[in-house]
Amino acid sequence: MTNPIQLPSDQDSTGRTLGAEELELLRQCIETGTLTSTKGNFVKTLETEFAKKLGVKHAHACASGTAAIHCAIAAINPEPGDEIITTSITDMGGLTPIIYQGAIPVFADVGPETYNVTAKTIAACISERTKAIVVTHLFGNPCDMAPIMELAQKHNIPVIEDCAQAFLTTYRDQMVGTIGTIGCFSLQQGKHITTGEGGMVVSNDPELARRMYLYINKAWGYGDAKPDHYFLALNYRMSELQGAVAVAQMTKLQGVVESRVRLADALTTRLGGLPGLQTPVITPESVHTFWKYCLNVDANVIEGGAVGLGAALREKGIACAPRYIQKPAFRCQVLRDQVTFGTSRWPFTLARPEAVDYSDELFPGTWKALQHVLVLPFNERYTDEHIEFLATEIRDAVLSLTRSQAPTAGWFVCMTQARHRCECGAEHPFLTLY
Ligand SMILES: *Cc1c(COP(=O)(O)O)cnc(C)c1O
Repeated sequence: MTNPIQLPSDQDSTGRTLGAEELELLRQCIETGTLTSTKGNFVKTLETEFAKKLGVKHAHACASGTAAIHCAIAAINPEPGDEIITTSITDMGGLTPIIYQGAIPVFADVGPETYNVTAKTIAACISERTKAIVVTHLFGNPCDMAPIMELAQKHNIPVIEDCAQAFLTTYRDQMVGTIGTIGCFSLQQGKHITTGEGGMVVSNDPELARRMYLYINKAWGYGDAKPDHYFLALNYRMSELQGAVAVAQMTKLQGVVESRVRLADALTTRLGGLPGLQTPVITPESVHTFWKYCLNVDANVIEGGAVGLGAALREKGIACAPRYIQKPAFRCQVLRDQVTFGTSRWPFTLARPEAVDYSDELFPGTWKALQHVLVLPFNERYTDEHIEFLATEIRDAVLSLTRSQAPTAGWFVCMTQARHRCECGAEHPFLTLY
């Protein structure tokens, strides 16, 4: 690492907003001696504050973002073999709960520039057996929800929003998580706010909210006249210790988001007009809250594409990830080989063949997205100096890797007079390599 500038990291105190407020509430929590949310008040306070912040009727805390998705799927209560449409580019925690509930994840393709599912790609997956649609607002940029909700309402299918990366993201002035039927959030270490591990579910539907509450609590009817364990469910509770930290984190959320939006704007402004480099494509009428900052790299212009640019930036101490996830979700072993319960492959044994067809040609947007995306870490505690550093290093790397300027050693480069207009909007010379 040659550069002295160290970027704040969301994996330790340099890039987290954990401090005196969290410590104080933790102290109070420990002094009560009550660390379970079934008896304490911190998790209840968190739920009230979270619901208020989002403007939604019901919010329940749970153990993780994965648990949140599991609660949502369980509340929808699919029959074994029912299909749930989801996205090929997401965290595995958004997917495995579908399989645990006996349903089949059906992968919709994504737009190659937003990396999000669209009404069009979802429509192509709808069948008689579709029970729900999960949309992931990837990196903090919302899906184009109006056409998605129109499609879902036409077919009477509930929409679960995975907002793990999209705290306070808005679409047409509405907070994501409140547009669909259920919203799911994660409080894992690297998310906008954190309790190390943790999750939230929100809904305006009282029955679904009740089912999610029960699912978090082994389906035990706390407070009912004749409580029982009503259905198959787990203990997905958040502890009071996490609740105390989360209550303090909630007071910082707005500031975290505003800072990320401002810093991302500044970076985008500084990166404008570079050949072969597309800054984040934000969904119209939206606020993207930048969990990460993604560049779309044109390998026809920039030597080595996203991988080449990523390697150059890592040399400068900028941790970044070409491809985000190394492969689409359906290429991971659990899905590819259907490794589930014993050797049964259940519930995939119930699946229509079309629902588990993962042929390359069905996912052009996914392949294109993963090939071009370079994910930069992003943090609310970046300073203007950090943004300047990022912008300078990216600009230098792009210019040194621009093909027309940097013929690879040992190759003879023939430049013809012809030029073509690239998808980035700029004109580039045609290069012929011998
Ligand atoms: C982080 C994440 C999850 C899983 O959350 P955990 O708290 O890690 O279980 C699910 N979906 C998306 C989109 C995520 O980013």
